[in-house]
Amino acid sequence: MSAPLVTVKNLKKTFPVRESVFRRATRELRAVDDVSFAVSRGETLGLVGESGCGKSTLARCVARLTEPSDGSILFDGQEIARLSTRELRPMRRNIQLVFQDPMSSLNPRKRVGTILREALSIQGLVSGRARQDARIAELLEQVGLSPTFAGRLPRELSGGQRQRIGIARALALEPRLIVADEPVSALDVSVQAQILNLLKDLQEQLGLTMLFISHDLGVVRHVSDRVGVMYLGKLVELAPADAFYEAPLHPYSRALLASVPLPDPAARGRAVRPIEGDMPSPIYPPAGCRFHTRCPIAQEICSRTEPPLTDHGNGRLAACHFASPFASARETERAAPQPSQAKMGD
Ligand code: SF4
Repeated sequence: MSAPLVTVKNLKKTFPVRESVFRRATRELRAVDDVSFAVSRGETLGLVGESGCGKSTLARCVARLTEPSDGSILFDGQEIARLSTRELRPMRRNIQLVFQDPMSSLNPRKRVGTILREALSIQGLVSGRARQDARIAELLEQVGLSPTFAGRLPRELSGGQRQRIGIARALALEPRLIVADEPVSALDVSVQAQILNLLKDLQEQLGLTMLFISHDLGVVRHVSDRVGVMYLGKLVELAPADAFYEAPLHPYSRALLASVPLPDPAARGRAVRPIEGDMPSPIYPPAGCRFHTRCPIAQEICSRTEPPLTDHGNGRLAACHFASPFASARETERAAPQPSQAKMGD
């Protein structure tokens, strides 16, 4: 097996927090707390979790748009966590972001052709007007748009067309890793599937590696080879997508899957149950397992001892003292007695 393209080890990102405007920062918000994972070449890793769980901060750290506080990020074997802005410049094109709101990331005064030409000119990737025009037409066709779109302004495009331009601009730099942060959450449901299919097709055609961030488990299922679940800055489960959706190991993953309607015909009739309780503040995370204040199977040890992310075989990792098929069945029995709910997330 080839070495991973991205390896994240013990990554941390904290933000200082002032408790009042008159005081200096006295607390820390631990947005990403000791997270480790790897992404193989050509793989799509989906990262999910509720709003505020740290997934977007983690994505920004990997893309080096945010400086990590601690830990390591290896990109193709090279440590990039501590590179300066100048040192990062030559390798920036390898990691490109697709943002949630393409309108805010596209200059409204520039035509699509100019936006793409600027991307191509970076690091002298394609020089000469004629060669750039040909590449712009090729990029537009690659994202399913006619080359005539080069003459349009962003405001003359629909949301889906703008996101296609955002993707074309990312592709212009011939990246090896795409970090897509909620790329379809601002789009109408009818357009979401088109953009997801486009990302999936491009990933296959170009052999791209992708880190895909979303709060929407249905969206993540559509594109991901593996799924990572974050809760209060921690990675609590990591698993191949099929296994994850069939039978997640972590109680939070199960609660997350049970809280949303999934589009699968097999899931029809499954009751949707919101996750109980509110997510605690990341400034004052609970001791022990961070999910213990909301977990339906918490035991005394859970509030005392933090469970490590443990290997459960077949590429499955979970951070829970009771993560096992036995615990999974027991909880399912207790929390979802109706037969239609027994096969969670399927
Ligand atoms: Fe629930 Fe305990 Fe597992 Fe945490 S460690 S998820 S509280 S059972």
